[in-house]
Amino acid sequence: MATTSSPQTIAVIGAGFSGTLVAAHLLTQAKAPLTVHLIEREHSRFARGVAYSTIEDCHLLNVPAGNMSAFPDDREHFLRWAQARKDELLDCPCVGEVSAAAYLPRRAYGDYLAAVLDEAERGAAPRVRLQRWIGEAAALKIDSGAIDLRLASGERLQADRAVLALGNFRPGDPSGADAAFYGSARYHGDPWAPEVLERLLSTESCLLVGSGLTMVDWAITLRQAGYRGSIHVVSRRGLWPQRHQPGVPVELGIEPSGSKGAVRKGLRRIRAFVRDSGGDWRPAIDALRPVTQTLWKSLGLSEQRKFLRHLRTFWDCHRHRLAPGIAARLDAMLESGQLVRHVGRIRSFADRGDHVEVLIRRRGSDQSYAFNVDAVVNCSGSESDYRKLDSALVKDLLGQRLIQPDPLALGLDVADNGALIGAEGRASEVLFTLGPPQKGRLWETTAVPEIRGQAARLAVELLGN
Ligand SMILES: Cc1cc2nc3c(=O)[nH]c(=O)nc-3n(C[C@H](O)[C@H](O)[C@H](O)COP(=O)(O)OP(=O)(O)OC[C@H]3O[C@@H](n4cnc5c(N)ncnc54)[C@H](O)[C@@H]3O)c2cc1C
Repeated sequence: MATTSSPQTIAVIGAGFSGTLVAAHLLTQAKAPLTVHLIEREHSRFARGVAYSTIEDCHLLNVPAGNMSAFPDDREHFLRWAQARKDELLDCPCVGEVSAAAYLPRRAYGDYLAAVLDEAERGAAPRVRLQRWIGEAAALKIDSGAIDLRLASGERLQADRAVLALGNFRPGDPSGADAAFYGSARYHGDPWAPEVLERLLSTESCLLVGSGLTMVDWAITLRQAGYRGSIHVVSRRGLWPQRHQPGVPVELGIEPSGSKGAVRKGLRRIRAFVRDSGGDWRPAIDALRPVTQTLWKSLGLSEQRKFLRHLRTFWDCHRHRLAPGIAARLDAMLESGQLVRHVGRIRSFADRGDHVEVLIRRRGSDQSYAFNVDAVVNCSGSESDYRKLDSALVKDLLGQRLIQPDPLALGLDVADNGALIGAEGRASEVLFTLGPPQKGRLWETTAVPEIRGQAARLAVELLGN
């Protein structure tokens, strides 16, 4: 049910894809006077967020351009924008074509988002305006439904509604080290911190902990920057993101089911499909994409836990795939021996002054082995357990019981309309969210194709249209 009274001020905290898109929709849809405060703590991330603030040409989107429109009802919006800048994009060393099937630079996508926001601002009705803030939202009070927001700088602003678009947080520290190691200058806990590249370039070897998309970003960045050292990668199962390949969509026929064994049955169905078709698994995974949220919601907690325990890593590396050109670059790095793959569990890190000694227990064995690197980068994936986050705002909201983690600690407890649910179990009338914090409720909610629809719907909800 849409919220009734019409707000005059809405604060959107976080200007990544989620926050930027909600703000753009609010500006476009509002007919009555409205101020949208869009607040981003890092200048370089305004209208870009973590994913699209990269300045590397070879950090490519992992979704083809034809499916990266910011607008669910205008699927070619991004493609048209990109084609209008074709020559500029073709100058990038990792771009071979600008077509619906092309994987374009994330940096360019950041430019696109900034343009979407500018255009929404220009086209807004009279007395509908955007106010841009660079600063960290640090605390929030709600008094008789009115929100009083405080920034870390001490500035304050008032709003009728607020959207928490806080997105991706830095990964939690990997296990295997004593706390002192995490303070070492040789350890980079935040893989997205701006100083990491310069520090790594002065080393002769490094270890990337985790083998997901952040690891891929680092391997590619170092290669592009002319790094000659060894790049070690460790992960428990040794699974890396798979590569995209064109395929024909299929019908899998997996129905939503809350029954015991639903996860096992679904897996059997996929395996049977792959076996019978004698070919590629990709069409089977892609067939699940439009129904993943429905299937996830139907599972219930116990089956969801089973999925997370047994299949999460497999899902992640088959679902979040690599642009073929990036996969080819990684293969070349493995072949040349620059990229060294370790499969096992980290037993310890020890900062020996002029290097870090890493001890790894090989997967499926009691044997451990040691090697030395000059630096360690934590690429273990965004931390989703809100109780562990180092965010003043999150701590404040948890302390006031205005938000609570979802039962799987994948994000926050959220109602169907995007309202945040507090510790008393009631959906807020003034606090909302979208994107990654909805992971517990929806599972697939971190990529553009999922978030763009949420942003459009949330704007309608917030305006009470
Ligand atoms: C490296 C990377 C690559 C990706 N590539 C793709 C891709 O190719 N295609 C795709 O579809 N998806 C991709 N994704 C998924 C991506 O998560 C989504 O596409 C989307 O960018 C998420 O946007 P967001 O705004 O929710 O989060 P974020 O991008 O994390 O933005 C949240 C913003 O909130 C700010 N913030 C947090 N707390 C505060 C505070 N207290 N006060 C003020 N500001 C605050 C942060 O600084 C940040 O800029 C990628 C993700 C990552 C991490």
